[in-house]
Amino acid sequence: MPPSERTSAPADSRRKIWAEYGMDSYDALVVGGSAAGLSAALILGRSGRRTLVCDDGRPRNAAARAVHGFLTREGVEPHELLRLAREDVARYPSVTVRDVHVASAKPYEEGFVISAGGNAATFGRTLLLAAGMYDDLPQIAGLDRFWGRAAFSCPYCDAWEFRNKRIAVIGEPGRGRELAAVLEQWSDDVWICEESSVARIDGSDVPEIVGYDGSRRTSDAIFVSAPLRLRHPLVDQLGLQVRGDGEIEVDECGRTSIPGCYAAGDAVTTAHQLILASASGIRAAMAINEDLPVRSSGPD
Ligand SMILES: Cc1cc2nc3c(=O)[nH]c(=O)nc-3n(C[C@H](O)[C@H](O)[C@H](O)COP(=O)(O)OP(=O)(O)OC[C@H]3O[C@@H](n4cnc5c(N)ncnc54)[C@H](O)[C@@H]3O)c2cc1C
Repeated sequence: MPPSERTSAPADSRRKIWAEYGMDSYDALVVGGSAAGLSAALILGRSGRRTLVCDDGRPRNAAARAVHGFLTREGVEPHELLRLAREDVARYPSVTVRDVHVASAKPYEEGFVISAGGNAATFGRTLLLAAGMYDDLPQIAGLDRFWGRAAFSCPYCDAWEFRNKRIAVIGEPGRGRELAAVLEQWSDDVWICEESSVARIDGSDVPEIVGYDGSRRTSDAIFVSAPLRLRHPLVDQLGLQVRGDGEIEVDECGRTSIPGCYAAGDAVTTAHQLILASASGIRAAMAINEDLPVRSSGPD
């Protein structure tokens, strides 16, 4: 909804919220404190918006050893990138970051209420979902031991380190072929392995794929073609529209199907990279800031 069509909360409603939630009332509640959420918080902080970021510490690339493709931070460890990001955000006094899980979110008056970390409900005039996605990996014994160090999903993030080496692609027949075709840019030794034919993955440093037919093949890296899924029930609780391919439906500024609720990061795109997640968080924060002036910020 464009700002011009939105109305301020009536004064008595604003007073009620203030009385009920007191200082635990924010301009923006952000669920997810990784690339998208902290980038949004940076812009909201620089706009002087009272912002609460809630994060329960499960960024999608947590298992990775290094971040690639993020300008000025090539090769940094994922948790170090987030430490630096929190340091950036901490410069802005209107932003609070809490290490808590958000269990529920619902519209309330002219905003939203979340419950997080066993605390009393917290009110925000806007809500940004930056909670990411998870890789719905096939249930193959041994795969988790290699995930993030020799098993990956994204060639643009991780194929360079395995250029001209042995690369296996595990996936359902159609998806696997597409991923294998992309990976041939990095190596001539790419082979496809149907998910249902893999019994387990052995090996300590280098993965060895063991088939149900008894075959064994060693690869330097495995790329898995697995679907991404929304990680949290908040989308369902709020009744947000979701696209056919599983992402939250948003406009170009991150506005979802519910006025005042925004989404950013992996959960809104089909191209999944930290810097893209950051960019969409920034775009959503700009929209939040520009949509907010027509809403009240506290008691009269
Ligand atoms: C193995 C691997 C390696 C990767 N390597 C790279 C790389 O080198 N370069 C690159 O650009 N991209 C890489 N990616 C992709 C990158 O991880 C994602 O694009 C990026 O993390 C998306 O950022 P995001 O902020 O949208 O979500 P995430 O980083 O997934 O963060 C979402 C945050 O929300 C929190 N959260 C979720 N639900 C709740 C809740 N209910 N309450 C509180 N907090 C919640 C989570 O704990 C998490 O911290 C990699 C991905 C994988 C799987």
